[in-house]
Amino acid sequence: MEITFIGLGNMGFPMASNLIKAGFKLTVFDVVAEFVRRCVELGAKASASVVEAVQNAEAVITMVPASSHVLDLYLGSGAIVAATKPTTLLIDCSTISVEASRKVASAAAGRGQDMIDAPVSGGTQGAINATLTFMVGGEANAVERARPLLEKMGKTIRHAGPSGAGQTVKMCNNMLLGIQMVGTSEALKLGLANGVDPRVLSEIMCSSSGRNWTLEVYNPCPGIMDNTPASRGYSGGFSVDLMYKDLGLAQESAIALQVATPLGSMVRNLYALHSRASGHLDFSSIYQFLSGKNA
Ligand code: NAD
Repeated sequence: MEITFIGLGNMGFPMASNLIKAGFKLTVFDVVAEFVRRCVELGAKASASVVEAVQNAEAVITMVPASSHVLDLYLGSGAIVAATKPTTLLIDCSTISVEASRKVASAAAGRGQDMIDAPVSGGTQGAINATLTFMVGGEANAVERARPLLEKMGKTIRHAGPSGAGQTVKMCNNMLLGIQMVGTSEALKLGLANGVDPRVLSEIMCSSSGRNWTLEVYNPCPGIMDNTPASRGYSGGFSVDLMYKDLGLAQESAIALQVATPLGSMVRNLYALHSRASGHLDFSSIYQFLSGKNA
């Protein structure tokens, strides 16, 4: 099966690597040549443009930062919807707005193409280990067509509902994640100020009612866990700018639908301040920001 993978950053590269390892023939594209080169070293084919990359594809997977990139790739300069065959399956794994996702899916449906929104959760470790959770929106038959590919990149594939439902679930999940990251950071800092070892505090809270994903696998305090961004200067991982974007998607939706999300709003504002100096760092660096330091 000929697959084209576009967007080879922190998430896209390990996801594409897992498809190559599983034996799929991959054509890849990214605006950063170095990211294309690392995939070519694993056996992928490089393309000079998006149109060239997608024209013979049986499936196209995109993993780019935000709504504007997806709209441009599918309907603007990338012209994926127009350049692909009517039988090509389109899979967008980026986290974007529900509206942008539905707009692209509706244009694809106009050409008879199957398209799903399939944002992910599980972080870069989940992408590397192929244990991601896919939250999928679209027609059931399109989800089944995509399943053999998604299963090579993730462990849990959940059909959330029609087009845009995957993005809705992802937006809610990431608002909760942002709130948990700030809450966990506050609790660790308070314990530290009281003289308790943050490692001991983390271990005890992990078996108590404060337990959550940020404590269990993504501790924001440096030196507590190996393989976390906090233990490598907050590099790699899920950037502050991307978390800020996701919290913004949640607030736009909350305002449009008149849903009160006071904590989501507050945490979005914290990340807005933090992103001014540290947007490129992992989002767990909010721990340092709360100490009054730029990580
Ligand atoms: P990233 O910035 O590391 O990677 C994005 C890649 O897209 C970059 O390599 C960039 O060069 C490329 N790109 C941008 N515009 C392009 C274009 N027009 N054509 C080709 N390539 C283009 O971001 P990431 O961390 O990999 O995240 C990607 C998406 O996944 C985002 O929507 C993010 O919110 C979501 N996400 C990230 C994580 C995480 O832990 N990093 C977890 C879940 C979901």
